[in-house]
Amino acid sequence: MKYISTRGNYKKVDSAEAIRLGMVPAGGLFVPETIPRISEARIENMKNKSYQEIAYQILHRYLTDYQAGELKEFISKAYQEDNFPVSAIAPVKKLDADYFILELWHGPTAAFKDMALQLMPYLLTKAVTKCNINKELVILVATSGDTGTAALEGFKNVEGVKIVVFYPEDGVSKIQEAQMTTVEGDNTVVVAVEGNFDDCQNAVKKVFGDKDLNQSLAASGYQFSSANSINWGRLVPQIVYYFSAYAHLLRENEIKMGDKIEITVPTGNFGNILSAYYAYRMGLPVNQFICASNENNILTDFIETGVYDIRRQFKKTISPSMDILISSNLERFLFEITDHNFEKVKKWYQQLKEKGKFEIDSHYQVMIQEIFTGKFADEKESKTAIKNTFESYNYAVDPHTAVGIKAFHKHIHDKKGENLFPVIIDSTANPYKFSKAVIEAIQGDIPEKGDFELLNELKKITGMDIHRCLKNLEAKKIRHQRVCSDNEIEKEIRDILDINQEH
Ligand SMILES: *Cc1c(COP(=O)(O)O)cnc(C)c1O
Repeated sequence: MKYISTRGNYKKVDSAEAIRLGMVPAGGLFVPETIPRISEARIENMKNKSYQEIAYQILHRYLTDYQAGELKEFISKAYQEDNFPVSAIAPVKKLDADYFILELWHGPTAAFKDMALQLMPYLLTKAVTKCNINKELVILVATSGDTGTAALEGFKNVEGVKIVVFYPEDGVSKIQEAQMTTVEGDNTVVVAVEGNFDDCQNAVKKVFGDKDLNQSLAASGYQFSSANSINWGRLVPQIVYYFSAYAHLLRENEIKMGDKIEITVPTGNFGNILSAYYAYRMGLPVNQFICASNENNILTDFIETGVYDIRRQFKKTISPSMDILISSNLERFLFEITDHNFEKVKKWYQQLKEKGKFEIDSHYQVMIQEIFTGKFADEKESKTAIKNTFESYNYAVDPHTAVGIKAFHKHIHDKKGENLFPVIIDSTANPYKFSKAVIEAIQGDIPEKGDFELLNELKKITGMDIHRCLKNLEAKKIRHQRVCSDNEIEKEIRDILDINQEH
């Protein structure tokens, strides 16, 4: 399996090279040249397989330059009991007839990013050896909260790697911030950036492509890489849980092989839903995907109108990991939808850069609408979804999952209330990670307490166990206190790595 650039500006590479590079050096993203198919018989047989076995079946089809033994070892290390103390790894919870929640938050940092970021460091460090690179990798991460935490957890103390995480100072929750600033490992650095997530992500993207900086980096024995979902190594592990969820429904006799399901994904950078789309292209029976957004509903508009327009106000919401205007992985999706038309993709992204918007041809829009619907939930609707879900099913969901739930209900409403397909709604974070918003949604007000005390408060309301990674967080020592503005990121990196300023 080879990987190609969405902008047709790079040679074909093996998966290890694509993962090592993170993104295409001249701009663009790596995608698999073809999408492997999995037969119906094989999918049906997954009901007799463990998560780890299903993971191997998916991974080895994409990562053909890794040996079977390597992949199996990485999978068993990543999805071991210490990291995921539930045997299903990504359990499916039935809330009602044909209404299922896919819990993606049982990993070490309580958000779905762990599903990929527990595995990816193994893929990346092996990629470096495979490509005969003798440089130390510097993983740069721009995070809206959960990626940074999960990446720090996945990469801490990994040999031959440094990880530097930038997060928007006022764009993450107190709990997320504490998870990051208390992280251990002598190869971890965390920096608060004055600005929002887009500022932060754009600034990090810019330093990635900065020739001068890359040269001085190389001279000092370093090389950049990325753990953001622009890295293929982040996407491929996420395909797995869509198959494991389908296998679960088969095993429980909720569906028969071939029955179509619908999948609702609370979406930000478009990585999770893109993985679901790859699962569909591999043969997973899906009727429609519901792309759920919060008030930053640029994707809802795009799916409805075919116009992607970032000239709008950035809004801070109670689902901060979805507060994004530039969904990086949409580029991969457009490349797939246009049947690998890199000329089009290049043109659209050029327009986005120059004019802040682009419009796709109407026949592509029709194709997208056949398989995708976009719906969004505002703040009030998200809170109501938390409250209603708790009252109806005695089940607490976090604000991101709530956006998915509301989006799904709007989708059903559009179809005149008929739910013809079993639906899986991705639950992307544990509710304790966003205790304040969850309590406010359920009770209507918040007790005057600090974010950490609110964990116990939520426990009183729900009776659910506090996620292990959030217990005792408050008592942990703060180890990272760096702050910079978005135009100082390059300087900050030079400082961290002790590389001299040039010119
Ligand atoms: C990252 C994240 C999302 C968005 O996922 P994308 O792959 O970026 O679309 C949604 N919810 C939570 C809790 C997240 O951490």
